[in-house]
Order: sequence, then C-alpha cells, then structure tokens
Amino acid sequence: MADAIIIDGKSIAEGYLAKIKQEVEGLPTPPCLAMVLVGENPASLLYVRYKQKHAESLGITSLLYMLPAEASEAELLHLVNDLNQNPQIDGVLVQLPLPEHIDEFKVISAIRPDKDVDGFTTENIGLLALKKDCLVPCTPLGCIKLLKSVEKDISGLNAVVVGRSNIVGRPLAQMLLNENCTVTVTHSHTKDLPDICVKADILAVAVGNPGMVKGNWIKPGAIVLDVGISYMPDKSIRGDVDFAEALKVAKAITPVPKGVGPMTKAMLMHNTVKAYKKRRGWHDAQPD
Ligand code: NAP
Repeated sequence: MADAIIIDGKSIAEGYLAKIKQEVEGLPTPPCLAMVLVGENPASLLYVRYKQKHAESLGITSLLYMLPAEASEAELLHLVNDLNQNPQIDGVLVQLPLPEHIDEFKVISAIRPDKDVDGFTTENIGLLALKKDCLVPCTPLGCIKLLKSVEKDISGLNAVVVGRSNIVGRPLAQMLLNENCTVTVTHSHTKDLPDICVKADILAVAVGNPGMVKGNWIKPGAIVLDVGISYMPDKSIRGDVDFAEALKVAKAITPVPKGVGPMTKAMLMHNTVKAYKKRRGWHDAQPD
C-alpha cells in the first residue's frame, strides 16, 4: 500500500488566509479583534502575539488587553462587558486558561455571542448542536476543512473522535454529525479504544498524549486528523498519532506540526470576518 497523503495544513491555511485578506481589502472598514490576556503565562502570551501578527498581516485590527494575574473576576467581566458594548470591536477572545480564582465558564458566558470568535459561548454551542449557522470553534472548523480537502463527501462515514473537550472533541463530534457521519466519541473511560478506532473511516484524535494511536488502531484507508500537540524534551513537537506507523496504513493524515495548528489560526481570522459581517446583517459570503 502506498504511503498516506500528508494533508498540508500549512499551505491549505495559507490559501484561506489569502482569500480572507482579499475579502478584508474589500470591506469598508477593517474588522477589529480584541483579545484579553490575564497574567503572563508565556505560552498564552506567545499565542496571542501570533494571533495579533496574523490579524495585522490580513488588515484586521487587533487590540490586546492585558490584565495582571491577580486581576479579579469582576474586573475581567467589566472589561469583557466594555468590549461587548464597543461598536468598533467585532470579535472578543479571552485567552484560556484563566488563573484559578476566575470562573472560566462565567467569563466565556459573558462574551456577546455575536462577537464570540472562539465559538465557546453556550449560545453558539447550542446553535451548532441545532445545526444552525453560528460562530463555531476554530480547531474543529479547521479539521472539517482539512478533511474535506481530501474527501468532499463524508456523509455516511464512520467517524471516531478521541477526546471530548469543550474546545475540540465535543464540537468536532457535533460538526461531523452535522455532516451526516456516524459518530463515536471516546474518552479516558472508554473500554477497548483500539477496537473502536480501527473501525473509523475518519479518526480524529485530540488527547495530548504523544504517539498514543498506533498503526494497528487505524483502519486501512482511513483519514486521520491528529489534533494533539505535545512539546517533547528534545524540543520537537509531536502529535497523538504514531505518524510513521500511520503513514503506512491511512489514506491521508495531518502532520504535527503544520497540520491542524495553522488551520486553527486561519479559522480565527475567518470567524472574525464572519462576526464583522454578521453584526452588520450581511449575508455570509463564506459559509462554514
Ligand atoms: P483536554 O481538554 O485535556 O482533553 C483531552 C481529552 O482526551 C479528554 O476528553 C480526555 O478524556 C481524553 N483522554 C485523555 N486520555 C485518554 C485516553 N487514554 N484515551 C482516550 N481519551 C483520553 O485537551 P484539548 O484541549 O482537547 O486538547 C487535546 C490536544 O490537542 C492537546 O495536545 C492540545 O495541545 C491539542 N490542541 C491542538 C490544537 C491545534 O490547533 N492543533 C488546538 C487545541 C488543542 P476525559 O474527558 O475522560 O478526561
């Protein structure tokens, strides 16, 4: 069997970004994305800086609000409320994780659903569950687009999602269901995980356990989406799937790095432009 197709997330993301840039150039005013960072977690700071760089390279205005780690929940809610009410701002993103003394759910719930570019509010999650148009979480949206780059019609396929987090596993399972896949969601309590995975036509893994999924967990000809990112002691980055083994069995696989990661960033920009247009009541020219 020939080696799997390596789904080039980086270049697919660049294609989306080029289209978004063109779209932004045609807008009467630049969309504006506001990001809030609480504390100085170096990884979080790096992420928001990347997002800012990305936004600015597309002509999207980005604003970064930094609160000290000891900021109170009330201060953060006050800021979110200000951003909600500011007519110049189209997207509001609160970088997670938040310090332990702050209730993440309460803060995310305070974001106006039509500015919720991460797609994490209960309203957007509910709309996704009802298969209505909404702002959907960036990583699962990127996964679906990568999947469709190799298989346009995924209707009727068996999809197995490993991991059930609110930001990846659950919304991805919902989106696969909305695409008419037959979906199985697995997690840390799942029994006989390899036996379930090997039945998947689409295997999406979002756990954070490097190399967990072995070649013999993969159905020959399956499409594998590896969402996991683990930073190894040798400074390399690894996914949740044993890539070398998977290459010999799968039909297509996303690499780590340069797979799902770049698409996540591109989808945030997509959602920012979508929020800009939706808030103005324009028909979305780029349906998800
Ligand atoms: P998370 O919130 O820690 O969730 C991990 C999920 O994996 C949980 O649902 C957990 O089950 C499940 N799990 C843990 N051990 C398992 C096992 N042995 N068998 C089956 N399931 C198991 O993580 P996350 O935020 O979803 O992120 C997952 C990975 O994706 C991480 O490596 C993260 O860095 C990466 N990520 C990448 C991107 C990207 O853009 N590429 C974006 C987001 C996240 P329980 O629910 O039972 O605990």
